[in-house]
Amino acid sequence: MEWSCDPNDRVAGLKIIEDLTQSAGQVQRRVLDEILRRNSETEYLKGFIQGDLGRETFKKKVPVVNYEDVKPYIERIANGEPSQIISGQPISELLTSSGTSGGHPKMMPSTIEDLDRKTFLYNLLVPVMNQYVDGLDQGKGMYLLFVKQEITTASGLTARPVLTSYYKSKNFRNRAFNGYNVYTSPDETILCTDSKQSMFCQLICGLVQRDQVLRVGAVFASAFLRAIKFLEDHWEELSSNIRTGIISEWVTDSSCREATMKILEKPKPELADLIESVCSSKSWEGIIKKLWPKTKYVDVIVTGSMAQYISTLDFYSGSLPLVSTMYASSECYFGLNLKPLSKPSDVSYILIPNMAYFEFIPVNKGLEEERIDRDVHCNGNTDKICMEPEPVDLVDVKVGDHYELVVTTFTGLYRYSVGDILLVTGFHNQAPQFKFVHRRNVVLSIDTDKTNEEDLLRAITKAKLLVEPLGCLVTEYTSYADTSSIPGHYVLFWELQTRGKNPLTELESSVMEDCCSNVEEELDSVYRRCRSKDKSIGPLEIRVVKQGTFDALMDFCVSQGSSVNQYKTPRCIKSEEALQILKSRVLWSFFSKKMPSWVPYRLIQH
Ligand code: AMP
Repeated sequence: MEWSCDPNDRVAGLKIIEDLTQSAGQVQRRVLDEILRRNSETEYLKGFIQGDLGRETFKKKVPVVNYEDVKPYIERIANGEPSQIISGQPISELLTSSGTSGGHPKMMPSTIEDLDRKTFLYNLLVPVMNQYVDGLDQGKGMYLLFVKQEITTASGLTARPVLTSYYKSKNFRNRAFNGYNVYTSPDETILCTDSKQSMFCQLICGLVQRDQVLRVGAVFASAFLRAIKFLEDHWEELSSNIRTGIISEWVTDSSCREATMKILEKPKPELADLIESVCSSKSWEGIIKKLWPKTKYVDVIVTGSMAQYISTLDFYSGSLPLVSTMYASSECYFGLNLKPLSKPSDVSYILIPNMAYFEFIPVNKGLEEERIDRDVHCNGNTDKICMEPEPVDLVDVKVGDHYELVVTTFTGLYRYSVGDILLVTGFHNQAPQFKFVHRRNVVLSIDTDKTNEEDLLRAITKAKLLVEPLGCLVTEYTSYADTSSIPGHYVLFWELQTRGKNPLTELESSVMEDCCSNVEEELDSVYRRCRSKDKSIGPLEIRVVKQGTFDALMDFCVSQGSSVNQYKTPRCIKSEEALQILKSRVLWSFFSKKMPSWVPYRLIQH
């Protein structure tokens, strides 16, 4: 199987996409055959297929699983057992996902070859983008990219986020430095592990090369907005560095500093004057276009939970096109957007058929959490029983239907349910195009955190014990992600009842602030890392609402079509009207005053 593409050969790149999508069914069959050929002797697969390489046997015998099912195998590898447990090729590292299991990041296996597949997908993005925007090779991209901390497992394997792995790889560092791959940030600034120094230096480099910048971006919208906030907080220092040609002393990472000095070269007082005059203006509306006047678009993912940032991005960018180029995960890179300039709400992705073997579990429309039950004929009666529906192949999905994505990767995951719900919007040749609908169960997300209902309930259950000594009970709660300021933060609405039925007249702030920090302390490690280390999430807020607020919310939901009998309080509010009902009844608001604890997780040796 070939994963190579010259990013600067537009014709060849587009032909690869055409060939792969025209023969998507055939490519998928070849991918499955190849995965089975390589891995049939692994402990995991052998247990199900006993060396039978048939596709039908695979589908009949290998179960669809989730992380909890494969976690014991991955932990065994992390603790030193051979890769052969799950993979015919050596597992070279573990990729820590933003999804969590037992409060810790999930870990996905990866191999050396996997880097070539990722590079292949990145390279395919280039001809697609060049089709829509001319002259991108005449300038640079100001991409604000970061690495995160990595750990070593008991067996000496490295565990780190997928992008950290990619930016540190030779594939990234040795990329052809021409055309599309030219960034304003030197690699040394991207690879600096101190995020503040990295951000500061990347912004200096971006500002100094402002006349060459044709596109700006980060991976996710949240990260890009964090950079704008950083600029808001530090523009005076940045421009003073540019004025004097000397970088602040607190930037101590020597390679990051040296690389930035090389770009800065010498004092640039005129540029500093310009930055000061732009940044000191009252409104920052359209600041991107003012600071980087040749920018043609903002390259950030704004689909899925990132859609909440679209209006803020429009404000700062002066409504430049927002481009979501790809759909990927720690498990596997999936695909790309063939129409990068389409409106965020219209974005669909094709899954590139040679990246993995893809299957799709049908899920009910509107109730995306529920897999469609199969009608099963037993004893002459057709009963609906709760049996897993049969996953369908990539080329067999139907336009207008919703599916849950299941992948079989080259790196040791077999029929693994990713947790993403996708809607088929059309086809490009034989390959379906999917809109990302949402991630199963996730109720709150600001950055890479993904908090589900159970996590939220567990955290609130613990924290609400603190109000009981005040004679209060939390009778109802819901939440929403407030992204009106940067960084965004979680807001919980609590309705309280006093034990003696007396009206609630006041609450002790210190107790409520402790409730806020207690909730944060109970949320998973990705939330706590974003909050304490990355500072990409602000302090959690509890808003206490008047009694009767949740009745009003129920009345509203029922008026919108919810059944009274089956009504359950939504644990996260997305509708603006419903939010207004809550916001208009707030009595008091309290914020967490403490940073939740975060230490890099450790792998337990069994
Ligand atoms: P991670 O587990 O940290 O690797 O995150 C991967 C997940 O991020 C995917 O399974 C999706 O839920 C989400 N994701 C990745 N790319 C996109 C995208 N383009 N649009 C929406 N969500 C995405």
